Amino acid sequence: MKQRKITAFRIMCLLIAVAVLVFLGSGYRIIILLLSIFSALVFGRLWCGYVCPLGFYQELLSMLRKKLHIPTFHVSLKVKSYLRPLKWIILVYFLASVLFFGLRPVMYIRPDLSFSSADMSIYKIIIVGIVTGICFLKERAFCKYCPLGTLRGFVNKISFGKIKKDGTACTHCRACLECCPMDIRSIYEERNKSDITHSDCIYCMKCIEACPEQDVLSFTLFGKKVLSSKRNSKQVK
Ligand code: SF4
Ligand code: SF4
Ligand code: SF4
Repeated sequence: MKQRKITAFRIMCLLIAVAVLVFLGSGYRIIILLLSIFSALVFGRLWCGYVCPLGFYQELLSMLRKKLHIPTFHVSLKVKSYLRPLKWIILVYFLASVLFFGLRPVMYIRPDLSFSSADMSIYKIIIVGIVTGICFLKERAFCKYCPLGTLRGFVNKISFGKIKKDGTACTHCRACLECCPMDIRSIYEERNKSDITHSDCIYCMKCIEACPEQDVLSFTLFGKKVLSSKRNSKQVK
């Protein structure tokens, strides 16, 4: 697949996935759940980049922000380090809610139901509004703390999909870091390791699209290189 077409391909996958999930309605939840678990076990967070409707919702918000020429909200490294434990607190809260209080995380499969359910309280509207506002200003903000994403991230390191880097040819231009929706610093900072797959990576391939150096960043599936950066690729926004 040619460079810079991956994002278009990914958006198309997300669109089809949302259409299929809405079409299937609620009758096939068990099949969707099994598919989601299987995909997580084999491909880690690939689901996040290509299937999850909630991820798609956030991408739509980012696209709208860029269309309106509203700059993204920058979070300093210090604030990020303060916020990091939040991810684990949310995961523990989520697991306890599912295991002991019967929470059914349907919003990950049909986020639209959060807006249309009969028990739509003012409290829920405020929460949805705040999360939407944050995700509008910061790309994939929810995904950085999402408990299902965190769970899938455990598999990223042993997943069959890998992001690879040739650190010797990297010119430290930062293009990869600046376009990464998950703010993964190691894709830019790593100099020695070739496997730079991070637990937060959603395999969006934006870093590979943006890298201006030939074959410095690549994506391998089952050990076979399927995509790599090309010299003078333009930065992806
Ligand atoms: S991190 Fe959560 S919300 Fe984001 S794409 Fe993955 S499952 Fe969906
Ligand atoms: S590291 Fe690359 S593929 Fe992974 S989320 Fe960041 S930009 Fe996307
Ligand atoms: S975009 Fe490519 S060359 Fe630039 S810092 Fe990232 S890996 Fe290195």
